[in-house]
Amino acid sequence: MTAKTPIEDPTRLLTELRAVVGEAHVLTEGEDMAGYLVDWTGRYRATALAVVRPGTTEDVAQIVRLCGAQGVAIVPQGGRTGLCGGGVPVAGQPSVVLSLTRMNAIRALDEAGRSVVAEAGVVLETLRNAALDKGLVFPLMFGAKGSCTIGGNLSTNAGGSNVIRYGTARELCIGIEAVLPDGSVIHALTGLRKDNTGYDLKDLLIGAEGTLGVITAAVFKLFPAPRARATAFLSAASLEAAITVLNRLQDYSGGGVEAFEYMPQPAVDVIRQVFPDIRAPLDAPAKTGILVEVASSRPSDAAEMEDGSIRLTSDVMALLADCLDEGLLLDVMVAQSEQQRRDLWHMRESILEAITKSGPANHMDISLPLNRIAPFVAEMDDHMAELGFQPLTVGHLGDGNLHYALAAAKGRDWDRLPHEQARNAILARLDQMNGSFSAEHGIGQSKLSLMAALKEPTQLAAMRAIKRALDPANIMNPGKQLPPG
Ligand code: FAD
Repeated sequence: MTAKTPIEDPTRLLTELRAVVGEAHVLTEGEDMAGYLVDWTGRYRATALAVVRPGTTEDVAQIVRLCGAQGVAIVPQGGRTGLCGGGVPVAGQPSVVLSLTRMNAIRALDEAGRSVVAEAGVVLETLRNAALDKGLVFPLMFGAKGSCTIGGNLSTNAGGSNVIRYGTARELCIGIEAVLPDGSVIHALTGLRKDNTGYDLKDLLIGAEGTLGVITAAVFKLFPAPRARATAFLSAASLEAAITVLNRLQDYSGGGVEAFEYMPQPAVDVIRQVFPDIRAPLDAPAKTGILVEVASSRPSDAAEMEDGSIRLTSDVMALLADCLDEGLLLDVMVAQSEQQRRDLWHMRESILEAITKSGPANHMDISLPLNRIAPFVAEMDDHMAELGFQPLTVGHLGDGNLHYALAAAKGRDWDRLPHEQARNAILARLDQMNGSFSAEHGIGQSKLSLMAALKEPTQLAAMRAIKRALDPANIMNPGKQLPPG
């Protein structure tokens, strides 16, 4: 689908937009717009009539109506950390980038009700800190937290490291305010935990990557802040053994595993190569390295033991020692201070930047049922090595999500490698194992061909019907998520 109405009068549109948001918030000069027109990966560069920065929901509604009247596409944009090219315009269509970053108020934080109402442009880390100030936690967490916005998080249904315990952005959201493609506004910020009054429109907008409307604000659940944490880096005997350890930790802690991140040795090596200041957590290479964090808000778990450690850390160490004795683990490093914990997380969160800086790589964001991860990785790592690739996999193992990246193996020429063959082998195996080709980063522009080829036609048809019903003129982030056809 493409927008059919060519723009009638760009000058008039810009004048009208300036009347809504003020002169300073309609950018039209090349250098002012430049930063808004390229995505984080640098792969997608675009042009636009203007970058418009609304300050209120009513501004957004008016902008959408004005652009809609002239058939101009609206591309919502948050922190621009998306990895699939969803937040920048596509070529060949007059577009306005709608940057939500001025809408960055935390409207209300209800300590007793454990919820927070935040505008779309609030940076994830700001929201996390606001909750922490009240002794609560907003648990969405990943490397881009200092730049990404909660509007972008909802629109991509972001995941990250703590999904194993708290779920994705969708599961954290209990209310939404949004502007639909006709400029009407949905006010659903009640924050009710139960509300069965028909179709859940918030769930349509979450994960829609801006194709069904502009999210302007949302209500999120908050959780008790952990009083105690045990963080460790494990060298597991195998991926199967790692999952046994995960389940033992879950059983012991009543589901208190907050993160279980796969960091095999090649990933750690790349991080150390690009960031030599980062130290490897273990002396010997860990073929199956795991960063694990268990947390508890129970005071008894934070009690100090005779040796000065806290009970949770002490118990987790005892459990891991048993796993060492049984041969499930080969080595363990438990963080003994907050600084050591931060160092482990810093290492984890540096991986994407390290891979990106270390040379060309193909990234796949895939998910599998937990019991299929070990056979998938074993088979694919061998096969990719045969084809001349070096897999640089990391992943949120606890929730079945792998970031399966392929770089050139040592001495191999990237341009001569069989990229198509490798990708097809991975996709075929994923399909046989009930996996997904897009776990948490979304579709954007980069996975349109995969959507066309692999998404069940019935689901694709239903998605297109929803899009047509809400956005018949196709002005809301066209060319994203839904393949042409
Ligand atoms: P943008 O990039 O600006 O936009 C993303 C999409 O959302 C676009 O389609 C855009 O049109 C749409 N959008 C933005 N705001 C709105 C709005 N208000 N209303 C409607 N549509 C909107 N993602 C994960 O899920 N897990 C990770 O672990 C993870 N790690 C990352 C690590 C790094 C170093 C980087 C750079 C990225 C990572 N990401 C991860 C991807 C990215 O951070 C997320 O997709 C994030 O949610 C995007 O938020 P944003 O504000 O930057 O959105």
